[in-house]
Amino acid sequence: MRARAERLTELLADAELDALLVTDPVNVRYLTGFSGSNGVVVVGPRTRAFLTDFRYVEQAAAEVHASFDRRRAARDLLDAVADVLAPGEIRLGFEDTRMSVREHARLRRLLPARVELVAASGLVERLRAIKEPEEIEAIHAAAKLADAACERLLRDGLVGRTEREVAVALEHDMRERGAENASFDTIIAAGPHGALPHARPRNVPIRRGELVVIDWGARLDGYCSDCTRTVAAGPVDEAAQRIYEIVLAAQLAGLESVRAGQTGKAADAVARDAIGAAGHGEEFGHGLGHGVGIDVHEAPRLSQRSDDTLSAGNVVTVEPGIYVPGRLGVRIEDLVVVTADGCEILTGMSKRLMVVD
Ligand code: ZN
Ligand code: ZN
Repeated sequence: MRARAERLTELLADAELDALLVTDPVNVRYLTGFSGSNGVVVVGPRTRAFLTDFRYVEQAAAEVHASFDRRRAARDLLDAVADVLAPGEIRLGFEDTRMSVREHARLRRLLPARVELVAASGLVERLRAIKEPEEIEAIHAAAKLADAACERLLRDGLVGRTEREVAVALEHDMRERGAENASFDTIIAAGPHGALPHARPRNVPIRRGELVVIDWGARLDGYCSDCTRTVAAGPVDEAAQRIYEIVLAAQLAGLESVRAGQTGKAADAVARDAIGAAGHGEEFGHGLGHGVGIDVHEAPRLSQRSDDTLSAGNVVTVEPGIYVPGRLGVRIEDLVVVTADGCEILTGMSKRLMVVD
């Protein structure tokens, strides 16, 4: 934790900031260990302050790293920010993607005139994108837990159960295995419903002959996993099998292209070109992947619009899909750690088209 705040201080110097006010709860947790919902942090070369209100004083004493000066403040924590700034701290960065216009105006009123507020989102996110070995272990453990739950689910079969029943069973099993919760709302989408990349499970039974998109993850020790498999509920027709094979080939090509130094844009293009060459370019409407950590969607991004370059220690998904409106969807997603010359896959379930009853 101390090392994280120190690395952040180095980034502050590059950004010509004297200190950073951190209000994003995930960033607060990353820097301090605090998992409550009302905490803010101020970090500068001479400042390591953590503020919370009376409800969280005990939790903060247990969780917040001792290198931080832990202070109790009024429930509106911004009131106390001026008190923790050191005299020379003039340029104060704040997380503009995480502060309302109203909060910003209030903060401006509360701070001395000498302090300059500078929009500076994304600094802690840059640190978070490169995982420490213990973080990778936690994500791997979450992925293994999620794999075990899904394998169990498929042994119980899919045909005749509703999407919602299946989603609830999977989430319940992950919690029984020790997960804090599902890392996001489980997607179970059968047949034509699979053509919606963010489909919500319906009270509709899965029918024999449908492809079923299963996108799920577990949160364990604060870290998320994310994986998708598309399985066949009983035998599916040849057209569906063909589309499955195209997505699988694109996914393998995407995995092959992931390594440190590769751009998010180029990795996306490898999978996108494979799908385009097979005549389905218009039916792959989202990016190839995203970073995963404490948040299930974080930096870096693998997409046509990404400006990110992959680094060793990034944990990212590779998840191409083909969505044919009114007919079916196929998505195959793995979670990987980027290494100097490739990647290591953390999600272990088979990617051959599984037929389950
Ligand atoms: Zn997913
Ligand atoms: Zn994903």
